[in-house]
Amino acid sequence: MSAHIETSREGQSLSPALEARDIRKSLPLGGESLDILKGISFQIGRGEFTAIIGPSGSGKSTLLGIIAGLDEPTSGKVFLDGTDITFLSESRMARIRNQKLGMVFQAYNLIPTLTAQENVEAPLYVGVHPGSPSARAKELLALVGLQHRLDHRPNQLSGGEQQRVAIARALAAAPAIVIADEPTGNLDQSNGQNILDLIRRLRDETGTTFVIATHDPTVAAAAERALHIVDGLLASDTAAAMAPPPPALMAEGSVR
Ligand code: ADP
Ligand code: MG
Repeated sequence: MSAHIETSREGQSLSPALEARDIRKSLPLGGESLDILKGISFQIGRGEFTAIIGPSGSGKSTLLGIIAGLDEPTSGKVFLDGTDITFLSESRMARIRNQKLGMVFQAYNLIPTLTAQENVEAPLYVGVHPGSPSARAKELLALVGLQHRLDHRPNQLSGGEQQRVAIARALAAAPAIVIADEPTGNLDQSNGQNILDLIRRLRDETGTTFVIATHDPTVAAAAERALHIVDGLLASDTAAAMAPPPPALMAEGSVR
């Protein structure tokens, strides 16, 4: 078996990994309308590691749910790996999600009765994937440094280890993009840093596109790019690891 982990089956194409076009989300609230997202547009290239940052309540989880096809925008469009996923039927959306998208959550969301290996195998029994699920799961758990924890259940693993299993599971079907909502939110600083280092390494080794949401600027700084959400709008778009742009650029909005 090749040592190289399979990445997107799509091969090269000109479309970005993800495009959000004028995403708006409003919810009815006591006769009024609560405008959570007020017109957000961006493109994320293949293999980019991007953080969506904003204070609690700024709409990060709402935006991630929409770009992952779990929720519908009030208006606007989402293109995932070149496919318009806005307003698809639930069955088509489920198939696209299974092929193109991996999800990671703050609270890991592993199945408690399954072992680490079984948790990673589970998505491979839905849809068609090359190779055996058990070999693929072992390969991925080795990739995240858990080859010695295959038979452990979630309650026999530390928080950092559970999140590594969740990341291995998200990568199981070799998706084009992995979306993670506050993936370090339940971890102490050193385990959080380990997860961020792991994401960077996996991005380098597999070419997978990673988008994380966080309220924490030090977490966002681990990404290459930060999309800053303020008051339902994109306030800035910058390379987070570099020096912050001058205030004039911040005020103008998009830097790249
Ligand atoms: P974040 O992830 O940045 O903390 P969220 O996307 O979870 O923010 O929430 C954005 C805002 O929308 C918050 O003010 C939240 O209370 C509100 N909100 C989210 N979902 C609902 C809902 N189903 N009903 C009413 N308000 C909601
Ligand atoms: Mg949130």
